[in-house]
Amino acid sequence: MNLSKPHHANFTTLAHATILSVVIICAAVQLSAAVMGRTGLAAQGDMVFVSMVVAAMLAPPSAFAMALYSTKRGELEAELRQLADTDPLTGLSNRRAFEDVFERERARALRSRQPLSILLLDVDHFKQFNTIYGHAGGDLALVSLARLLLDQARTGSDAVGRWGGEEFVIMLAETDLSAAERAAERFRQAIADHVVQTGTDDFSLTVSIGVASCNADETLESVVERADSCLFEAKDLGRNRVVVSRPAQVSSYAA
Ligand code: GH3
Ligand code: MG
Ligand code: MG
Repeated sequence: MNLSKPHHANFTTLAHATILSVVIICAAVQLSAAVMGRTGLAAQGDMVFVSMVVAAMLAPPSAFAMALYSTKRGELEAELRQLADTDPLTGLSNRRAFEDVFERERARALRSRQPLSILLLDVDHFKQFNTIYGHAGGDLALVSLARLLLDQARTGSDAVGRWGGEEFVIMLAETDLSAAERAAERFRQAIADHVVQTGTDDFSLTVSIGVASCNADETLESVVERADSCLFEAKDLGRNRVVVSRPAQVSSYAA
């Protein structure tokens, strides 16, 4: 998910600085002309010349200050946006940011009639892990799992988020239910094979995964609800497995 500063920020800064320079030049010309005209200090030609010199001296530092202010403000705004969208522990998108990304992708999927699927992952027996390695150890494990999920995700078309606690969500663009099931199995296996360094010994965690494909007019809440009931079933069946939303509940984007 790209949360960087919008591309038009530099253009806006330049436009502001240019407008400010013009305003300063006009004001300086007017002011100098008025002062010199009233005091009878100079002839018309001299007045214009002196005005231009004053304006030329004032405009660059003012424009520079304005540009600096505008750039700093843009950077701060981008930083704030990034903070608001990011889960502080794992660095993944938080639920709110993920919802935005999903909404954008859903609209695109509708227009292009492409399938869209989600995976809901929950770490198995994580409370037990916390009990053995402490909450700080649990935090490190979540960070390590988040990094693994990002590594495994397809750049550009998958989005990974922290849904909350020890639950993660992954959006798979242009992916139908059977491809999503294969992807879920790949994620599950990668996590099971992954060694979490605890500081004292090495530990492998597993996840249960619910998979659902989005119906054409379905909200994220509804598709997550279906993935969640599959996740519940995966837990019930013994954990460390993938369960897919039943085909009867799924209708494809394809016409
Ligand atoms: P299950 O296989 O049924 O999912 O068992 P579980 O133990 O993972 O599930 P449960 O919901 O009982 O416990 C989830 C645990 O995850 C409890 C909570 O303390 C822990 N947890 C949630 N968020 C964090 C976090 O940010 N850091 C750490 N260290 N633990 C967390
Ligand atoms: Mg849970
Ligand atoms: Mg759990």
